[in-house]
Formats: sequence, structure tokens, C-alpha cells
Amino acid sequence: MNLIGEHTDYNDGFVLPIAIDHDVRFAVRKRPDRLVRLYSLDMENEVQFDLDNVVPDPDDPWGNYVRGIAVQLTKSGRLLHGMEGVVQGNVPIASGLSSSAAMEVAAGMAFSTLSMQVVDPPEMARLAQAAEQEFIGVQCGIMDQFVSRMGHVGSALFLDCRSLEYEHVPVPSDEHLFVVANSKQSRELAGSAYNERRAQCEAAVEHLRGALPGIKALRDVSPEELRQHGGDLDPVVFRRARHVVTENERTLQAVEALRANDMPRFGALMNQSHDSLRDDYEVSSPGLDALVNAARAVDGCLGSRLTGAGFGGCTVSLVPQLRVDNFIRQVRDAYREACGIEGEFYVTRPAPGAGLVHTA
Ligand code: ADP
Ligand code: MG
Repeated sequence: MNLIGEHTDYNDGFVLPIAIDHDVRFAVRKRPDRLVRLYSLDMENEVQFDLDNVVPDPDDPWGNYVRGIAVQLTKSGRLLHGMEGVVQGNVPIASGLSSSAAMEVAAGMAFSTLSMQVVDPPEMARLAQAAEQEFIGVQCGIMDQFVSRMGHVGSALFLDCRSLEYEHVPVPSDEHLFVVANSKQSRELAGSAYNERRAQCEAAVEHLRGALPGIKALRDVSPEELRQHGGDLDPVVFRRARHVVTENERTLQAVEALRANDMPRFGALMNQSHDSLRDDYEVSSPGLDALVNAARAVDGCLGSRLTGAGFGGCTVSLVPQLRVDNFIRQVRDAYREACGIEGEFYVTRPAPGAGLVHTA
């Protein structure tokens, strides 16, 4: 789940996600041959394929994440064993919390472990991203897979999406918790709007390059430079660019706020981030705005914003530990009243990324 730095990843910018304590689990054993047979306890169906002939199957959505990572691991030179077992998860699906990355990374861990292959964590994240891009056809950034594999308990992961340099930044945990609110609204618009936003960011870079010849992405533009040189941009493209350049700044400031243990400042940056996503990037939705407004109205809530690509999915709020129950009650009621939907709430703190669970 991303704390701040939204729609910055494909602009070569900064993100600050945490891994949450929801997961996808593979309980598997090695097979002597090259077959993969998995049963999903959630989908109640079976996936079967042969590692010597892996092609996407349009009728088998979840199996394609497993196929995709198998292909990437193989392409990277690893010889994989067949495996069999069951899969189960509790990452909310299609809610902006990236259950797909959890699937890919968990499948990658299962294959690499059973096949006795060492894959260092950043490489696993890159292979999982490639799996989603090439096998599922979603041009995702690398943030989700990265934090899904690399998250640390008690820390947010500050990631530079250009260099892939990263740092685990401790999140002060004694007083405040992150509360996730699921709007339960589908993200139907998300696909086409996402591609449109990406194109608008590229258009902004193209235009700004006239005045700033060295730039490769909006990452290279400061808010001041955008003010100076963005005047004759198309007004919509200007606002899109303004979101990205200010969001990059906010993410750097949020890291400073964590380091200084200044959670009120962190919450204020979350609020600014949401307002920018709503007004300049226009990826919020009435449901997400209702959740955010209800959260901000609760006494003691330090900040609230949408998390994920937008148009539905979840919000995240920074809430004093002692007021969490009250917060959930109040926001649940307000959201039901505003939108007629029963929201879902998860209280979370930074959890470890993917790992092995040894049984017996
Ligand atoms: P998001 O990543 O935002 O949750 P996506 O559409 O990218 O949404 O990925 C969701 C897909 O991931 C599901 O449709 C399913 O194919 C797969 N998936 C996620 N969790 C599970 C699970 N527990 N069991 C089987 N498949 C899952
Ligand atoms: Mg996904």
C-alpha cells in the first residue's frame, strides 16, 4: 500500500509504500516432472500447465500470474521444477492494494525455493513486474512488486523509481496507525484513464524539453521550473504535470517527516497529496472523496488520501491508535450515508514482505 507518491512511478519519481499484513500463500511441494498443478481455495478451481510450453490462457486469469513469473524466471536462466499444491490469499482484489503483485511474488518465491534457485529480492521484483507487463498486458510500474518482496516490518520503503535505489525508513509506531478504507467501488475507468494520464505526462515532458533540454521525465522538473516554463502548456496537461512534480516534492518531504518523527506533518502531506490527485490529476471518485472527507472530520485523524491508481479502491488515513475504533465507526456510518455502500476497513502497520513460512 502506497503512503504517498501516487502516479509518480512511471514519471521516474519517488514512492513510499509499505507492505501490509495481508498476503497470498502458496503451500506447495516439488514434482518430479515439469508440470505445475495448483488449486486456488479462493477461486475454487485448478490451474495446470507444463513448464516446457507456457502460453497465456485467457480463460484462466489467476493462473496467468503464475505462468508469467515462470516464464520470466526461465528467461533469466533458471531451471524450474514442476510443483503442486494450493493457493490462498486475503489481499483485497482490485482494490488498489495490488493482490496481483502478491500473486506474482509469492509464485516466484515458490518456484525459486523448490527449484533451489537464488533470486535476490530486487531481481525478483523486476521479474514479477515483467511478468505482469508481458503476460497480463498491464504496463505497471515496479513499486508494487518491489515492496511486496522487499517490505520490512516497521518501515516504509522509500524507492527511487528511476535508479531503483531504496531505503527502509522506520515509521514511528507507538501512537498512530494506518487505517485502510475500501470503498468497494470498482475501478472500471482506471485502465483507459491510466493510459491517458501517462500520455499527458509524456506530452508535458515533450513540451518542457524546449526550455529544459536535459529532461527525460517529469522527475527532472521542479515545481519552480514548471511555473516558469509551463505557462503555454495545454491547461489540462499543465495540471497533470503539476500533480506529478509537487507529488515528488511531497514524497521527499514525507520521508523527512518520518525521520523527524513528525506525524502531523506527514498527515498534512497525505492531505495535500489527495487534494492534488482529486483536483489536478483527476483520478479520485465521489466514493473516495466521501471516505477522505469523513476521515478528516474525525477528531485526531492526521491525514487521509486515496491510495493506488484511483477511481475506486481504497483510502489510507493516519489515525491515533486510541481512536481507531471510533474512527472506523464514524467513517463507516458517514460513507454509508453518503454513498449507500458498506465500506471495509483494515487496520495496518508496516509488515514484512514476502518470505518463507516453514511448517512441520
Ligand atoms: P489488484 O492488483 O489491484 O488487486 P489486479 O486486477 O491487478 O488487481 O489483480 C487481481 C487479480 O489477481 C485477480 O483477478 C486474480 O486473478 C489474482 N489474484 C489476486 N489474489 C488472488 C487469490 N487470493 N487467489 C487467486 N488469484 C488471485
Ligand atoms: Mg494489480
